[in-house]
Amino acid sequence: RIVYVNGDYVPEADATVSVFDRGFLMADGVYEVTSVLGGKLIDFDGHAVRLKRSLDALDMAEPMSKDALLEIHRELVIRNDLTDGMIYLQVTRGAPADRDFAFPGPDVAPTVVLFTQSKPGMAEAPAAKTGISVISIPDIRWGRRDIKTVQLLYPSMGKMMAKAAGADDAWMVEDGFVTEGTSNNAYIVKGDKIITRGLSTDILHGITRAAVLRFAREAQMQVEERNFTIEEAQDADEAFITSASTFVMPVVEIDGAAVGAGTPGRVAKRLREIYLEESRKAAV
Ligand code: PLP
Repeated sequence: RIVYVNGDYVPEADATVSVFDRGFLMADGVYEVTSVLGGKLIDFDGHAVRLKRSLDALDMAEPMSKDALLEIHRELVIRNDLTDGMIYLQVTRGAPADRDFAFPGPDVAPTVVLFTQSKPGMAEAPAAKTGISVISIPDIRWGRRDIKTVQLLYPSMGKMMAKAAGADDAWMVEDGFVTEGTSNNAYIVKGDKIITRGLSTDILHGITRAAVLRFAREAQMQVEERNFTIEEAQDADEAFITSASTFVMPVVEIDGAAVGAGTPGRVAKRLREIYLEESRKAAV
């Protein structure tokens, strides 16, 4: 695999960063994951805009223009012969001469790393046919979940808790309401209404979420952005998650209780189809 590190395309074995990198020492960095279908980037623009938003929120300068970033994404697709999969991008505050809590000055350049992950046939994931199960766990993350930082320890622990419980993933709950999944946004469906938590600093502003809600509204489906509880989700007709790597994925079980008929619902299946079709059309 050929990866991009600070201006160079190198074999992954030769890709290195400093032990003083603040991404490594302090999780002082942000990331994006853009999916690739048929060799084309899905919603690149959305990810580029959110990257800038994350960088701005942390007082980090943009390491390069959007066009330059697009060029690197495309180059990695070509060099790795990537058909279906993901491109991971990480920008950290770089590697100052020594470890220090204070941010380094502008002389320290950010570290920019991009690599590909091949997932042949990812749009036809078997889990989309069966649906996935989730457990609920308390949301004990920090208060700026709208910034896509590399501080992913608790979401990793959440996945492990799910695994230990025999489930596929976890939904996090704060003050009685679902915030989001460990690496995805959470939704329920009641009748024809799609319900998902509104945007705030409590959740990541999913790029897939924005696209799916737009497509849903364009298809005259009803969307309600509001909080919901685990109990309401268990009683809902359907549930699902969205993310760049899972697209729209039905959730058929929450804390051991079947949602609806316990099989992927009509609305989730339709949204997955619309999302894949429309985003393939708009891919760059
Ligand atoms: N919420 C969290 C906590 C995430 O980590 C992610 C994706 O990694 C999402 C939501 C979904 O965001 P997107 O649709 O941009 O992939």
